Amino acid sequence: RTNGSPSAQTEQRPMSVTFDKDSIARFRDLVADARRIVITCHLAPDGDAIGSSLAMAHLLRGMGKSVRVLTPDEMPHALKMLPGTKSVMAWSSFGAHAERSVADADLILCLDYNALYRTSRLEPFLRASQAPKVLIDHHKEPEDFATVAFSYPDMSATCELCTLLIEACGWWPLVTTEIATCLMAGIITDTGGFHYNSSNPELFDAVARLMRLKVDKDWLMRCLVDTKSADSMRLEAYALSQKMEVDADAHAALITLSRDELNEHHYKKGDTEGLVNKPLAIPGVVYSVYLREEADYIKVSMRSLGDFPVDLLCKTHYSGGGHLNAAGGEFRGTLRQAVDIYHSMLQDNKKLITEKALHYATR
Ligand code: 5GP
Ligand code: MN
Repeated sequence: RTNGSPSAQTEQRPMSVTFDKDSIARFRDLVADARRIVITCHLAPDGDAIGSSLAMAHLLRGMGKSVRVLTPDEMPHALKMLPGTKSVMAWSSFGAHAERSVADADLILCLDYNALYRTSRLEPFLRASQAPKVLIDHHKEPEDFATVAFSYPDMSATCELCTLLIEACGWWPLVTTEIATCLMAGIITDTGGFHYNSSNPELFDAVARLMRLKVDKDWLMRCLVDTKSADSMRLEAYALSQKMEVDADAHAALITLSRDELNEHHYKKGDTEGLVNKPLAIPGVVYSVYLREEADYIKVSMRSLGDFPVDLLCKTHYSGGGHLNAAGGEFRGTLRQAVDIYHSMLQDNKKLITEKALHYATR
């Protein structure tokens, strides 16, 4: 998806998505035949993963299904205000019970991830399960494991895709304010509150239909975009004032946070959400890299402007992936090694800086 410069118009996705009729029919049949449905999403679930999972859970429960939402690990505190999060089961806390749910499922939905390894410790159990699996996702290069796959990388969010899919399946009359709220949460999360990756008019048509169901958008924006704890604000201030390295010549910025630095600032999961976007505000910066030291890996996050492909960088250098303008990875090495890789790629990356990227970066 491009970002709305006049020249980008022709590159947008077709005006309306048409789903494969056969896939829709098979999805409907799988749902009709299922009694126990398990919904899964990726490790370190974000608002799109949780929003789409909860929306589908509410919808399917409305059809009388028994539904269990399983996440590989705990969701960030900031998402707990979404309707239905109390019944979400994190694998990290309910291993054996979660395992049984997967084994007993007669349908598994795979939301907001393109490959089973993204579910971390859920992966072996999902692979072992004989239940049909339906993939609903907007990441590139889906792994071929699903019985039915709805893979639409041009969509802004899995929640946008779910909105269209629910309509295509004829389930729109079942969509409640709660469901619409969860779907909006995912769209807001993956577009940074409509800041990026949201230039397609179709998205706003879908948003308008959700808004008609009385979604409190301002509340969602406050909860998802404009809320920050004092600790997290101080950590962000520290990162930006002490740990941000800007290379004007390379159009790049780097922020690193070590375990010690995180601990000093009472870091909690999700506290640096959004930090990687900040350096993109600096005129001339086309891409931003954030390296966070976790217990046994380095969490890599990258964001970019225009057509600068951070998914490619994450894939090539940090065995990760993602989208053109927002990507990440888990690097198995030290923070020092991850930083060295960053510095070693700067020169080469200059080849990837286009006029279009600079159009967004230069003011
Ligand atoms: P974030 O920086 O918010 O963690 O991730 C941004 C995007 O990058 C996510 O939406 C996801 O698509 C992708 N991503 C993050 N971590 C990984 C990873 O470890 N592997 C892959 N393939 N993609 C990732
Ligand atoms: Mn997503």
